[in-house]
Formats: sequence, structure tokens, C-alpha cells
Amino acid sequence: MDTRRGDIFSITLAGLSASLVHVNVTIEHDQFGTFELAGLDEDSWELTRRRVATAIYNTLKRNDLEIAVEITPTGTNNHGGQLDLAIAVAVLLAFEQKSLPSTVVLGELSRSGEVQHVRGILPALKAASTSHAIRHAIIPRADAAEAAHAGLDVRVVDHLRDVLDSLRGSHVLDPAGPRRSTRSYERDLAEKPFMMASVRRALEIAAAGQHPLLIIGGAGRTSAALKLPALLPSMTADEAIEVTSIYSIAGLLEAERGLLGSRPIRLPNYRDATLEKFLGRDDPACPGGVRPGEVSLAHGGVLFLDELLEFRRSDLAALAVALAKGESSGFPARPLLVGASCACPCGFRGDEGIRPCTCTRTEIQRHERRLRAVFDRYFDMQVVLPSVFDVAKPERSEVVRRRVAAARTARAAMAPESETGSEHALWSFAQKRGVLPSNWPKVLRVARTIAALADISGVRAPGKRHVYEAIQFS
Ligand SMILES: [Zn+2]
Repeated sequence: MDTRRGDIFSITLAGLSASLVHVNVTIEHDQFGTFELAGLDEDSWELTRRRVATAIYNTLKRNDLEIAVEITPTGTNNHGGQLDLAIAVAVLLAFEQKSLPSTVVLGELSRSGEVQHVRGILPALKAASTSHAIRHAIIPRADAAEAAHAGLDVRVVDHLRDVLDSLRGSHVLDPAGPRRSTRSYERDLAEKPFMMASVRRALEIAAAGQHPLLIIGGAGRTSAALKLPALLPSMTADEAIEVTSIYSIAGLLEAERGLLGSRPIRLPNYRDATLEKFLGRDDPACPGGVRPGEVSLAHGGVLFLDELLEFRRSDLAALAVALAKGESSGFPARPLLVGASCACPCGFRGDEGIRPCTCTRTEIQRHERRLRAVFDRYFDMQVVLPSVFDVAKPERSEVVRRRVAAARTARAAMAPESETGSEHALWSFAQKRGVLPSNWPKVLRVARTIAALADISGVRAPGKRHVYEAIQFS
């Protein structure tokens, strides 16, 4: 047997950015059979070599081949086994003396040769699709739904033998079909419990201006937050791909779901909140070796922190830094921040109809001071939840969402703050109503959003009535 050569492309990820990897294989006849693997980093080399060599043996049934695999760039990692299938396919191509031009291959192999789910298929293929060199992809069938959105000709396989059979012409690989996704995670405003008008208004303004919102009260804090994602404008195709990619890398994408259709909401609990959970951490199971944090899993949607005062101050400060940067551990991180807290330590202040508050006056004052400090640092708006719900059915979220989308456009078209010239009059108006200089910038920000929501009447700058309403949320 002459020396035979084969090669194929695969992809590795670091955060959401992808790099092409080239797999080169040389096969010669050797009565003892060997499998050499070069170019992988030390962490993944030995397990990959054993797994892939066994899968190839179980598929080709040949133990008289001297196989040498070389991966470039050298030092490439194989987190989650995403390169397994590419290595095996390059061997089959060499053995069969075939080629698969313009193709990337991704998938983990079991030792028996089954092709298994890998994380990060969508961001990997999406990146590959921007390269003129890549037109086709071969991936695990388990990942067909998300791959269908990548803009490549994608074929799916169950077993390494499927690839061998297709190279020999006895099998045609199935295409990955597109799937529709739903908005199932969202709660509609017109679903019970109906929020009171003041709360719905706060949610609408927060959504329109991307204003961090603090919700204070007893019952209904979480149900208020759960109604926010559906009030944000529907995701564009690019946004949906970005958000789905983050979930794919975290291994949180359900197999049957293709592109995520609704904006995410994350509700990390203070009891298991660590800085790493917030900001991302090393995780060899994730492509690129880093698992996105809650701040990135909430990207494009809502990050909801209930019982806000229970979170460590240093964690909140680090979270605020990530939010200001819009990035964490290599992943985008621009969620709408929503915090919530009871109005007192025992939790029943304002809900006295359920059970009387047992806190002392001093305890309540201390609680309020702490809440005020957190509000001043991290939030634009706050709203107190009434202890009752509305009896009348409110507008559907879709109606409010349209208003929010229009307001975002109007707000973006407004003159910059320093050019409006009317700010001094507004500031003295606000000052007379008890607004402190330190809080004025956020009151003005919120007032601009309120003016944008009223833009139907052609409002182009905030006026006193907008400032007046903004003060109610400060
Ligand atoms: Zn209390």
C-alpha cells in the first residue's frame, strides 16, 4: 500500500470567536498498526487519541495501518471532544483516497464510533460560514436543529460508519432541516396575576430605556420580572443567533430547539451565587474551555436578582463592572438588570393583609438605608409593588412591546442631553420636588425615555410632566 493522505477542516471556539483547525492525515501499511496524534494540547491529547483510534478501528476493522495525524495550529484544545469526528473523517478520507473540499466537521466520538452531541455548533458553523473556504458541514444528528440556522449546507450523521458509507457511495447523508421555535418562556401581561398599572408602567419604561429596575415589595416580585422579556423588542435574527450561541456553548440548548425565539431571563439565587457563576468560569466541557456566566446567559434579556441585599457586595460590584463593559469571560453581557427585595427584613411590610410585619422601626430604617445605597449605585428606577393585583385585564404584552420598540427608535433620534438647552429649567423643577443633584442624571435619563414613549405626539425632548413621572420612580 502506497502512502495515502487525507485532510479536513474543523473549528475550535474561544468565547464566541471561532478559529479554523486543519487536520492532516498520512496512512502507510504497518503490520503492527500505530496511531500517532500531534498538535493537540496536553490536556486533551491522550483521551482523544485512545477514543478516536478505537472508534476508527471499530469502523474500518483494520489493525495494520500506521496512521499519523497532525493538527494545526499546534496546541489546539479538544474540549468536549468537538474535533474527534474531524480526525476520524480525515483518516477515512486518506484510507478511501477521497476528499471533501470546503467542508468542516464537528462531533464527539464514542469508542464504538457513535457520533455524539457537541456544544457550540451554532457559533462554530456561523463563523465558518463567513469564510469563503467553507460551504458544507458534517455534524452530529443531535445538533441538527441549531445547525440549520448557520447558513451552510449541513449534513448530519449518527455513526462514523455513515461517513464511510457515503464516501463509498452506498449512503447519502441527511440534511439538517430548519425548525421553528416558540416564545414559550415568556409570561404575557394579560396572564394572571395582573400587575397594577404603576408596575406595568415601570416595566414598560425600563424596557424602553434599558433602565436597571429595582422592585420592592412582597408577593409578585418574580412574576413582575418574568413579564419583562416579552416587553423587550423581538430579537433580530443576528441577536437570536448570538443568544443561541451562548446557550449552545454552555450546553443549555435543548436538543429539539433550534434558534431561541424569546429573550432569556436568568434568576440566579444568592445561595449559590459565586463570582464565577456570575461572570463565567473555566470548564473543559465547554468549547474554548470557558463556561459563560449568568451575566452572559442573560445577554439580550433580563438578569433578575431577587433578595438583592443577600448578594455579596463585592459580587454586585464585579457584576456592575461586567455590565458596564458589556462583556464577561469573552462573551457578550448586556442584559437588563432587575433587582428585587422585600420592603423589610421579615418580608411582610406592605403585605400586612397576609401577616403583620414584626420588624422594629430601627430594623426597617436600616433595611431602607441599605436598599437606598444599592439603588443609588446600580439602578435607574425603582417601583414599590402594591400588595394587591389588578382585577381588570391589562393590554397584551405584544401591544406594549410595539410601543417599547417605537420608543427605542425615538429615544435614539433625540438630541443629545447637552444640546436640548431646557435642562436647567427641568433641574430646578426637579430640585423643588426633592431630587438630589446626585440623582438628577438618572431622573433625566428616565424622563427622556418617558418622553420617547410619548413620541406619538412628536415630543422631541423631555418636559416637566416627563420629569415629574420619572421622579415617581427615583
Ligand atoms: Zn418586617
